[in-house]
Amino acid sequence: MRGILVVCLCLVATLARADGPMSARDTLRYRTESDPQGLIADVRQQLDHLGDKATPRQERDLLWLLGVTAVNINDNTALAEAELRLDSLAAARHYDLAAASAGFLRSRHLIASGTGEGISEALRAAAAVQGDTNADVSAWAKYNLCDAYAMSEKARSAFSLCQQAMDAYRALGDNWGLAESESDQGVNYGNLDQPNEAVRLDQSSRRHFASLGAQQMVVMVGDNMAQMYLKLGRVKEALSLSQASLAQEQATGRLSDALISRTDIARDYAALGQSETALASISAAVADARAAHMDGMVPDLLDVRSQLVEKAGHPQQALVDAREVIRLLGERNATAQRADVSSLESRYAAREKELRIENLEHQNNLQNMALKTAAAEAAEHNESLRREALVSLVTKGVAAATLLIAVLLFLLLRAQRRYAAEMRVQALRDSLTGIDNRRAFMQRASSLLGDGRVLREPHVLMLIDFDHFKRINDSAGHPQGDKVLAMVADYLSVAVDGIGHVARIGGEEFAVLGPRLGASAGLRLAETMRAGVAALPMPAGVPAANITVSIGVALFDGERCFDLSSWMRAADAALYSAKSYGRDRVVASSLLQ
Ligand code: GH3
Ligand code: MG
Ligand code: MG
Repeated sequence: MRGILVVCLCLVATLARADGPMSARDTLRYRTESDPQGLIADVRQQLDHLGDKATPRQERDLLWLLGVTAVNINDNTALAEAELRLDSLAAARHYDLAAASAGFLRSRHLIASGTGEGISEALRAAAAVQGDTNADVSAWAKYNLCDAYAMSEKARSAFSLCQQAMDAYRALGDNWGLAESESDQGVNYGNLDQPNEAVRLDQSSRRHFASLGAQQMVVMVGDNMAQMYLKLGRVKEALSLSQASLAQEQATGRLSDALISRTDIARDYAALGQSETALASISAAVADARAAHMDGMVPDLLDVRSQLVEKAGHPQQALVDAREVIRLLGERNATAQRADVSSLESRYAAREKELRIENLEHQNNLQNMALKTAAAEAAEHNESLRREALVSLVTKGVAAATLLIAVLLFLLLRAQRRYAAEMRVQALRDSLTGIDNRRAFMQRASSLLGDGRVLREPHVLMLIDFDHFKRINDSAGHPQGDKVLAMVADYLSVAVDGIGHVARIGGEEFAVLGPRLGASAGLRLAETMRAGVAALPMPAGVPAANITVSIGVALFDGERCFDLSSWMRAADAALYSAKSYGRDRVVASSLLQ
């Protein structure tokens, strides 16, 4: 018996040793999540202490930890410090790893704040260390690229990068890197609608984090897994994982993550049929988001609550939340749309009034009926029979009215949701000309550049500026100037139809994107548009004989035009040349010749 006990104890000791305590490096990686504030303070102290004596590698490693932690807790000051110091380390020591680290930090920040261009930043960072033969650096670059694509929800592009990162970390025996890559691959599977595969990857990631003793990471990955369980109808498992996440997020003060977990928990309760608990949970989340001034999250939380309240059978309350979502979205959008919101509000107010009037009329009818019945009862001395008939009539009437109101409320709710969707579209449209606005153009151009690949027939960008437009305003007045703008916008939309996209990106400046159009077709199109605008008849009341435009054209060649801003600069320089050569002409960027 004693012998068996000794054998057992030895086995436990061996297992504990096999898992081992976390290495010094993994402990630091863990602290970026588990002790962010403490880690930032320690890293700063280390950097001060080392001063000029730090080797480039030491300095880079410390600054990377500082930057990653800063991104995790939204500490913009620490993030800016890490980026600036990494950039200057890269420049002073020609140190590519420092340049790549600064680039990946910028990419993470851009992706987290949803401002686009994060992917191109990550691609440039990875390119900076492409020639590095160190296997650790290569695995690190692959993982960061995988993470950038996965967090941008570009699952198809992320998929093979994450697989490569997993293979590289597995070959290095780096369980931490492996677990992080597996968790990203789980996210990709989720986005590809393969919840079973996502759960498999999440479980493996959790096992690897658990083997390192990184309990907090196990819980964090569990958060993703909970959403997959809910999709698979395994609601109880989803609920317990989300509750564990919430407890941890509250303990570590990660408020926005905690709000997302509470949304998940509310959905879980709703799926379990416990609608009161679900509503209490989501309502508390809404109140906390408001109290913490996390205004960006409030519309999404209210939208979830509106859906849950509707499911619970309270359409009136669901309508209130849906309207609040519209109001908040409206505040974010331009003033032009505010007018639309208020006109919608007044339409609803009118319709609600109609509803109330119908209700009152209905009650009046019922009262009249009651009086008549009472009179008849007195006359016929058949009180009890008559009253029974009346009660049944009243009950039926009230039921019918309630049903009618419920149906109308559901219709109103549906219309509100459609309107919210329409408002999202309006935010991308220019109100004067009805074509895409600058925001739509930037979104379209960023997604066109996507992974930054250069195609055999490259993309073409044209910047178009009206010549001497001030003269039109001065001679005919601003409203006539607006008419000219709208007329030319109509003409350009027709001219690029099926070939490209036109947008109004400034006062009298337009841009045309020609995906895969190639140099010669691009120049032909620009020339056609120039001549076409010059031949347009002017609207009545504009004294000028015609209006002309100058056009600058640039190709996305991947070298001098390697991202959106270098592309725009090239087209703008060409436009500037067109103006200085005398206007009413097309000039191609020097890159094209
Ligand atoms: P240039 O050939 O050098 O481009 O001459 P320009 O007069 O067009 O000069 P510039 O491009 O610098 O000025 C644009 C003018 O367009 C100034 C402004 O009064 C007018 N403008 C800008 N937005 C609008 C608008 O929405 N409506 C009207 N009517 N005019 C506008
Ligand atoms: Mg201009
Ligand atoms: Mg002009």
